[in-house]
Amino acid sequence: MKVLLVEDEQKIADFVCSGLAARGVLVTHCSDGNTGFDAARTGHFDAIVLDLMLPGRDGLSVLSGLRSAGVHTPVILLTARNELGDRIDGLNRGADDYMAKPFFVEELHARLQALRRRLDGERLSRLQAGGYTLDRLTRQVGWAGDSVELTTREHALLALLMRAPGQVSTRSQILEHVWGYDFDPSTNVVDVCVKRLRAKLAALAGGGGAAAARLESPIESVRGAGYRFRAD
Ligand code: CA
Repeated sequence: MKVLLVEDEQKIADFVCSGLAARGVLVTHCSDGNTGFDAARTGHFDAIVLDLMLPGRDGLSVLSGLRSAGVHTPVILLTARNELGDRIDGLNRGADDYMAKPFFVEELHARLQALRRRLDGERLSRLQAGGYTLDRLTRQVGWAGDSVELTTREHALLALLMRAPGQVSTRSQILEHVWGYDFDPSTNVVDVCVKRLRAKLAALAGGGGAAAARLESPIESVRGAGYRFRAD
């Protein structure tokens, strides 16, 4: 696990760095807001531990800047006991958790691990492609805040395509994956299911009717090959 620590107090930085390193975490340390922001934006970290009161640029500004730049690395804020307002502000601005000083490095480590487990779980249970989100647990497909429930087979088919946008799945691969080996390959169940899925996605994106019909479906037919989810 790679963690970026942005903290100006050398004593705290030292104890976090050595405590996390002893638990196998690779820590990069920055001691002011500006270098912390640059490191967070350009480096690849699993999490960022961000102090609120920093020279140069404060923690809340770093956090907002990162989120609006599209950096969604999980952030744990380090806050002082009297910074309740900032703590709430931080959570509203996209922080994932906070630690009130003073804290034990064991607890910080446990929270970093919990954060990683949660994100791994979300990655597995949600697929995203072309602006659509597929929730594997509820079988809901979402687009721009609206969502619709899919049948078991529609869900399995869409999940297969969304897992690898741009990559063609043949009819027999789809049949095997969604209906099982024993299904008659001459059947048109795949095409019928794709048609139903396209209608649901179009209704979701365009509200149905003629406007929706004009929108290009994210599920593309590849002549003589099969289907694929449009890669953006
Ligand atoms: Ca500080």
